[in-house]
Amino acid sequence: MNGTGFEEVAEQVWRRRGTGRKLAVVGSIHGDEEAGATVIREILTADDRLWRRAGPVDLTLAIGNPLALEQGTRFSAGGRDLNRIFGAGELDTSDYEGARASTLMESLGHAEVLLDLHQTACSTPPVAVIEDTQNHLRLAAGLGVAHAVVGIEAVYSGTMIARWMDARGGLGLTVETGQKGREEARAAAFEIVRRFLTAGSTAGARGGRIRRYRLRAPWISPGSGVRFDRPLGNTSRIRAGERIGQTDEGPLTSDTDAVIFLPREGAPVGTPCMLLADDEGVLSV
Ligand SMILES: [Zn+2]
Repeated sequence: MNGTGFEEVAEQVWRRRGTGRKLAVVGSIHGDEEAGATVIREILTADDRLWRRAGPVDLTLAIGNPLALEQGTRFSAGGRDLNRIFGAGELDTSDYEGARASTLMESLGHAEVLLDLHQTACSTPPVAVIEDTQNHLRLAAGLGVAHAVVGIEAVYSGTMIARWMDARGGLGLTVETGQKGREEARAAAFEIVRRFLTAGSTAGARGGRIRRYRLRAPWISPGSGVRFDRPLGNTSRIRAGERIGQTDEGPLTSDTDAVIFLPREGAPVGTPCMLLADDEGVLSV
């Protein structure tokens, strides 16, 4: 046990027991998104001020993918995306990510609320990627996150760790805290975790206001060598008929009004160059 009451319960998973709500924070489940791990180390060594605010919460902290973090890559060499294999009926544990998913499910299964911290390649404000329920939206708003994306199952297959928590009857939130490698992404992640320790500790989080976007479909790149004409990031808007950029085969023109997420220059032909979403406005939750 360290000086702030944490005990390592599995490799790079630490728990500080308490009588309050059982919370979990996961960071760097993608190894090239290091801000989560940085914040987890900050919380592990935080002083009393943090714990006076947090009260008696039972907190478990986990570095998601320690090997990929060491290698600085999304997943380990020769491995697979750890955040797409949770809760699958038959988990193949013969590779590193499979074994790690099993370790995480074992050591986080007691949690009631799980916060999974990510960063994106593109520029982004903090964005919660959540199930479309009042509880999820309230908690995200309570963390000070102004944007929520719902409907991820329309564009991704595979199961994220936050969805695994939802499926167990808990509450799971994925939050993109900012752009990879940027200090703002770390600072936002720390603030979100600090609020999580208080907002997440009560069943009725205070809530607030949050803008909801519903994912519609990926835009599949019609050509190779996608370049954009203007900087695009999460929550950028495009218009029907607007020329967005070009590919080696010709102009890239939108046929729809949309809010976009995960724009990706250089996306190979036939793969998503961005995700299209509808803005459903600001909700009071
Ligand atoms: Zn990620």
